[in-house]
Amino acid sequence: MPTRPVADDIADCVLAAFGRLPNKFKPRILADGKRREWVPLAGMVLSRDAKQHSDDSGVADDDHHGPSMIPTAVQDKPNSSSGTALTCVALATGMKCLPHDKLPLAKGNVLHDCHAEILAMRAFNRWLVDECANLAEEGGESLWVRRRSRGRQRRGADRPTGECDEIDDGAVDESGEEDEAERRPFELREDVRIHMYCSEAPCGDASMEVLARGMADGTPWDTTTSASGPPSSRDEKTATENSPNEQRLEEADSSSKTTNLLHGRAFFSLVGIVRRKPGRVDAPPTMSKSCSDKLAMKQCTGLLSSFTALLVNPTANTYLSSFVLPARAMVRESIERAFGADGRMSDMAMFSSGGFRFRPFEVTTTTSSFAWEKSEDAVASNLSAVAVLGGRIQHQEVLINGVLQGRKIFDPRGASSLSRRRMWESVLDVVLKAQLVNLEISPCADGQTYEQVKNQPRLSARGRMKAEVREKALVGWSRNIGDDQWLLER
Ligand SMILES: [Zn+2]
Repeated sequence: MPTRPVADDIADCVLAAFGRLPNKFKPRILADGKRREWVPLAGMVLSRDAKQHSDDSGVADDDHHGPSMIPTAVQDKPNSSSGTALTCVALATGMKCLPHDKLPLAKGNVLHDCHAEILAMRAFNRWLVDECANLAEEGGESLWVRRRSRGRQRRGADRPTGECDEIDDGAVDESGEEDEAERRPFELREDVRIHMYCSEAPCGDASMEVLARGMADGTPWDTTTSASGPPSSRDEKTATENSPNEQRLEEADSSSKTTNLLHGRAFFSLVGIVRRKPGRVDAPPTMSKSCSDKLAMKQCTGLLSSFTALLVNPTANTYLSSFVLPARAMVRESIERAFGADGRMSDMAMFSSGGFRFRPFEVTTTTSSFAWEKSEDAVASNLSAVAVLGGRIQHQEVLINGVLQGRKIFDPRGASSLSRRRMWESVLDVVLKAQLVNLEISPCADGQTYEQVKNQPRLSARGRMKAEVREKALVGWSRNIGDDQWLLER
């Protein structure tokens, strides 16, 4: 029987990785020597089911080719009380967002959303693309990722170019049927599981009760939208003839007249709805969705970004397996409503698009604590730290306003390795290194905008899933557009 890692071990794995970073990545002690800064931390941890470790020997089977390449940087030894080996491959801190009116200036160089959870998921995608780059150069496989057999890819490559593929169809189908999804060149090994730890409750719906109880972080209330008062007592309406999602739609429609649909911390008694990021009262508005909403969406699309999904097969284990929160930040009612199959995602249970479907993560709690967590007299940090770990290529960055510390905000030289532009470049590099030009990925850079590449037919099943989630579950989700109309100059 595979042994599942326990919550404390997942949290401790992230906390230890953060602890090893140099001090410049960490919040500071204030000049008075007594108070300190605080920041949310999030990290991605990988485990492998113990039962299948014997195939690390590099013995080739139908899905393997070339020599086994196990990174020496990764020690696959049990490091948890459950006996499961855990590796933190990505972590991030942060709590800032780019105002919506700045998006057209970003041109793929600026990170819009620097909340820790979102950066950590982007950093995981960075790690994964880097793993693919290693395998494209050296062949073989890593502890976590392997190249799929050339035969299976070639079957797809022989198809006429320009034909619209439903490449995602069956991609996460556990039936084992081979189809167009087989043409993606890389995949996670089937025994890999992905876990996430966050030091605070995710902003938005999963933290509303935490907020109401005074347990949450100290980002100010968005009184610019709550000044007009809560939308009567609609939130107290219980199930009648309407489904819960229809009720939420009505509520969102109604409140949109005064709040433009997305609330930061406005109307905090109204629950189960999509919210925008909380922010300072005097800050220009951001259109970034809350971390609760983005995490809920990932339960339907998996963790792969659209660009990563061009390289990596979006199998069932590319979804988050477990999500760990400190016990102090966890209100079961909030979590079940925000993420659970009986909460606001209930209408997604029966829907699938290609192989994409709703795969809820398990939420567990830890008693481990983060040294820089929110406390009463701590001051919010304006820095984000990003670390991509465990692979041959490692990234460690300090970010301010979504770009590298020390660079001006719209200077292209300030682009983080997690930025849209750097990620697109890296995916193309893998395509070239792995000689995947027949896989219809390379035309991406041929005069197409970022938006056109994201909307290509190869990603249509994923796009349909997102549209369905926006319509049925995350009602009120509006796209944060404005940074899509740029080209990759190479
Ligand atoms: Zn957040």
